Amino acid sequence: MASKRILIVGGVAGGASCAARLRRMDEQAEIYIFERGPDVSFANCGLPYYVGGVIAKRQSLLVATPERFRDLFKIEVRTRCEVQRINRERKTIDVRQVITGKSTEYPYDTLVLSPGAAPIRPSLPGIGAPGIFTLRNLEDVDKIAAWISHRDARRAVVIGGGFIGLEMVENLAHREMEVTLLERLDQVMPQVDPEIASAVHDELRQQEVTLHLSAAVTRFDLNADETINVVDEHGRMHLADVVILAMGVRPDVTLAEQAGLEIGPTGGIRVDEQMRTSDPDIFAVGDAVEVRDCVTGRPTLVSLAGPANRQGRIVADVICGRDARFRGAQGTGVVGVFGLTLAMTGANERTLNQAGIPYAKAYTHSLNHADYYPGSEQIALKLFYSTDDGRVLGAQAVGRAGVEKRIDVIAMAIQMGATVYDLEEAELCYAPQYGSAKDPVNIAGFVAANTLRGDVSTVYWSDWQQMRVNGDGQPLPLVIDVRPPAMVAEGAVPDTIKIPLGELRKRLDEIPRDREIWVHCGIGQSSYFASRLLKQHGFNVRNLSGGIASYKMEPKS
Ligand code: FAD
Repeated sequence: MASKRILIVGGVAGGASCAARLRRMDEQAEIYIFERGPDVSFANCGLPYYVGGVIAKRQSLLVATPERFRDLFKIEVRTRCEVQRINRERKTIDVRQVITGKSTEYPYDTLVLSPGAAPIRPSLPGIGAPGIFTLRNLEDVDKIAAWISHRDARRAVVIGGGFIGLEMVENLAHREMEVTLLERLDQVMPQVDPEIASAVHDELRQQEVTLHLSAAVTRFDLNADETINVVDEHGRMHLADVVILAMGVRPDVTLAEQAGLEIGPTGGIRVDEQMRTSDPDIFAVGDAVEVRDCVTGRPTLVSLAGPANRQGRIVADVICGRDARFRGAQGTGVVGVFGLTLAMTGANERTLNQAGIPYAKAYTHSLNHADYYPGSEQIALKLFYSTDDGRVLGAQAVGRAGVEKRIDVIAMAIQMGATVYDLEEAELCYAPQYGSAKDPVNIAGFVAANTLRGDVSTVYWSDWQQMRVNGDGQPLPLVIDVRPPAMVAEGAVPDTIKIPLGELRKRLDEIPRDREIWVHCGIGQSSYFASRLLKQHGFNVRNLSGGIASYKMEPKS
């Protein structure tokens, strides 16, 4: 039987993993990778750390070379070769050599598109000025590094507070530059909710990054000395020697559109569960495709290396006759910001509201490992679960240690359709330096399941703030702080009464029975005990989720 000829467009995350898996599955297939740039299989995720000097050698970013692909896997790699056109009726592609301009037509049996996503570069006045960069590949990094060195750049303005923007902020600061971050929204990392993002804002300010939120850029003014004034929507000017645009990415659908392949409502290439496009002989993977959000069921774009790699592998299996399917994406991601880690998986509050999914949330502030073992750190975790059946819908967490481990566990729970009752039962690693006998994941499960079972009624600080602002004449609940006096002395929420948990039983007659009672403590645990006590004494009581620790994170109006 004649061997199949499989052509792959794009030789990095999705394309390279598809090619390597194809060879493992089919020793006979003819496999070609076409890559517009000079490198294949490089570590995009490491690029910011190379700018910062944390990754010292450029070579370390080259995961595999064309020679390695040829020698080890018998895969032909054509770098500096841009695929310009797909001729679906003839089943060929037109490939132009970037250097010579020469064009060649290659026939295929199966075509795989993994062209990635292009950084957004809005057409703002002055955006073409030298010294303004986006970051996608090694060539971009080389240009940024050269500019910084040759100009001895000291002031950087980063535009956009997403994954790449934050990583660039950290790495430019690592080079001892003065860094300003401008973000159009009122928070960084829109994948998480505002109160969780607020921890990142605090960290940035502590690290002396100048942070401007709700500050969309409107233009760039180039000065005579080649510095740039970045002007924001409020007319403020931010002086820069170098500007990094990290304003998000857009699926690169140029080829797919030209070939008449279906594009989905989000702007990504439409594919089925097997990553097949509207043409059965063409597959597409990675940042360029639209996938199903496995929590909301809606189409979504996910620009992350994990899904791109897995999709590449799935396509290889499907081409080789296996019934592999992509389960959908849930946006599991992590970013480090100086010493802080922010991680997330599944839906956030905005996506759940938009999708109309009934949910509740649990805030916890457990320690990453046993309190008695030195060096424990608190993890602020927000868990979403279905009020219908307890299914876990999403989680986000921030802290200095052990954050991504918990989010990874919850990510797997979401993928397996697990409930908060499963989180209660999860058997996880424990020794004092690593965790606790009740892991933060178990605790989040307990808190959520206690609410679902009706053992405790839960409210949030956002409810309290809303009631105070919109009052509409309703009597406000009485809020009782049940922390010990020493802790109260360190700071308390205004307009609350104080009855320490230890005195509560003796002082029940001080608490009105004709009014709703909300209790809180430091992190939500003592107030849960108080809730159980008061409930059993007939009070109409609710527990403020996450205690003072959550109160401090809430954006204040
Ligand atoms: P890419 O890996 O971008 O590869 C696409 C390739 O296709 C490009 O090299 C492009 O040149 C080539 N191409 C496009 N069109 C053509 C054409 N017509 N002809 C020939 N070649 C073409 N994700 C994470 O999960 N974690 C991280 O920490 C992380 N950090 C990142 C940091 C940076 C700076 C960047 C840029 C991305 C980061 N990502 C991270 C995202 C991750 O790299 C992408 O999600 C992933 O690489 C997408 O894989 P892909 O195969 O779809 O596209």
